[in-house]
Amino acid sequence: MADTIAHYVSPAGLRMSVAYTTELVRQAQQLHQLSPVAAAALGRTMTGALLLANDFKNKEGVSIRIAGDGPLGSIHADAYESGKVRGYVDCPHVELPLKGPHKLDVGSAVGRGMLYVTRYSLLRHPYQSAIALTSGEIAEDLTYYLTVSEQIPSAVSLGVLVNPDTSVAAAGGVMVQALPDAEEHALSAMEANLQELGPISHAIQTQPSADILATLSRNLSFRRLSENTVKWECTCGKERFERALLQLARDDKEELLHDENGVEMSCHYCNAVYRLTPGELQELFGLKG
Ligand SMILES: [Zn+2]
Repeated sequence: MADTIAHYVSPAGLRMSVAYTTELVRQAQQLHQLSPVAAAALGRTMTGALLLANDFKNKEGVSIRIAGDGPLGSIHADAYESGKVRGYVDCPHVELPLKGPHKLDVGSAVGRGMLYVTRYSLLRHPYQSAIALTSGEIAEDLTYYLTVSEQIPSAVSLGVLVNPDTSVAAAGGVMVQALPDAEEHALSAMEANLQELGPISHAIQTQPSADILATLSRNLSFRRLSENTVKWECTCGKERFERALLQLARDDKEELLHDENGVEMSCHYCNAVYRLTPGELQELFGLKG
């Protein structure tokens, strides 16, 4: 089944987005050899970035960086161009004891620190906001961020379920936001529905999406605005690498030209490796070696 994100609106003043991200979290896990707790942390963050980047019409993109002092180091995720996402964690192999039956201790792996959110859109300049992490569990942190920093009362639920063999069983998330005219009964119905649904990753593993939507819509009416496929994809490429090299100072360029091995760079997001031989460098820089 392809990963998807769907956006809904209710006349009672609610906006809801539901993301299914099992495949793309599996891809991230294979690419980065993520331990279970790292897969959960990165999977939640990538799903959160997709949920936050909800203005697909204006090609909104969202980058999230979670800079905690825990053993995972920083978590990086970018969602862009209507449904593409990529991400990595500084220390992908971290293992921590479970904090309960089947409960990965993402909060301890992330630790204390800051959450940075950058929004890009065709409509305005990129802007970044930062807020201190509340729990490091990511969904709570994003909920707090949206409510305090963007001043939209929100509920975010994110989940990655990992099998005993450490493969990813299910991943996804739900974001609900209250519009200024939200009706009181709608807020309490939504709260009850989220409670009823329980952990989103478990729901995704055990129920068809129609049942999940039915639970989330109980006593509320939602109209679907859009549904898009979402997928893992990196933006890197040799041209980007060359453009970055061209921005170096002249002295640095000359130093690179003297290295008989040429230059090599690997992408943190997808591990792709780009190489330029001394001859290619010389041609790129238009300098004499
Ligand atoms: Zn890449």
